[in-house]
Amino acid sequence: MNIKETDKKYIAGTYGRFDLALVRGKGSLAYDENGKEYIDLGTGIAVNAFGIGDEEWKKAVEEQLDAIPHASNLYFTEPCARLAQMLCEKTGMSKVFFGNSGAEANECAIKAARKWGLDNKGEGYSTIITLRNSFHGRTVTTLAATGQDSFHTDFGPFTQGFVYADADDAADIEKLADENKCCAVMMELVQGEGGIHVLSKEYVSKVLEIAKEKNLLVVIDEVQTGNGRTGELYAFMNYGFKPDIFTTAKGLGGGLPIGACVFGERTADVLTAGSHGSTFGGNPAACAGACSILSRIDGTLLDGVRKKSEYIKSQLENAKGVENISGMGLMLGVKPVRPKAEIIDACMKNGVLVLGAKDKIRLLPALNIPDDLLEKGIAVLRDALADY
Ligand SMILES: *Cc1c(COP(=O)(O)O)cnc(C)c1O
Repeated sequence: MNIKETDKKYIAGTYGRFDLALVRGKGSLAYDENGKEYIDLGTGIAVNAFGIGDEEWKKAVEEQLDAIPHASNLYFTEPCARLAQMLCEKTGMSKVFFGNSGAEANECAIKAARKWGLDNKGEGYSTIITLRNSFHGRTVTTLAATGQDSFHTDFGPFTQGFVYADADDAADIEKLADENKCCAVMMELVQGEGGIHVLSKEYVSKVLEIAKEKNLLVVIDEVQTGNGRTGELYAFMNYGFKPDIFTTAKGLGGGLPIGACVFGERTADVLTAGSHGSTFGGNPAACAGACSILSRIDGTLLDGVRKKSEYIKSQLENAKGVENISGMGLMLGVKPVRPKAEIIDACMKNGVLVLGAKDKIRLLPALNIPDDLLEKGIAVLRDALADY
């Protein structure tokens, strides 16, 4: 079969795919139809946390496939209970709702925040403040939550009740909190799709103060930043606070779809029987794989993430063709002098897969990428950046 032709004919045209069909992979290496090898610095957008088809993850998933791959949420199953326990014990949070994607995790957080507003502040306290340049998903509601005008066309009417603050301007949040009946502020601590923009500690601590003063929930979108990506288990741990709700997906699944909305003490019991649900949510096979991923994101692994991050920064900071580098841990953005598309193409031609985010090259390598592959991959990127 001609994969590319068939795809173009039968798949809805929502993706501007790269001219590359991947047919297999292992760890940080992927292979195309012709057997050409690529060093993977994008991990399927931060999903393959331990690389492609990680053996321990695969074993956990396969054992669960043999036991019971799906049961529905009408019954208890062990892997989702175990994963929820692990998520809570590792973060000090209280309860978890499982969906199948980042957008669904955020939908759940939005529903819970609004219900909390109704229960605790009264009728109409449903507005959620999000940040400009954020990204929260592709459903009609999470598009509305996304603070980018370019996402607010074509599919209206959008869900009401979102207002947008300038990232890094705490006074803007204060103003919006005064002007609207708000229940929550929701943000990514490192804006991913928005171009790897790291929120400063000073700004975040001011937002936390305002949230406390105005009685707003703090909802952190850890869909991309979560699960070891930023050098801590969750990005909020870099900032030294605990949110009221956080959401995660991508890397948690290690290669299978999963999303989690994690509730702290103030929000643990907001959602009650019948108020939310998902047929596939908490799927046993996905959860068994996620347990394997989460159980291995320990101090040693996170030390490695931070070391690899330092290595990449040391190689690319002040390198020829680089304007600047941003990010945290193994979620890094490199602003090239040349247009990013040219760099991505040059890397691909030379056997390295990197991503884009706004005008930047985005690097999301596996948390355990072997140093020799990382060095080779970064050398190829460095050459591509310098060639202009
Ligand atoms: C990817 C992403 C989402 C959406 O996740 P899906 O699994 O594609 O629905 C939401 N928020 C952030 C921060 C993301 O990076």
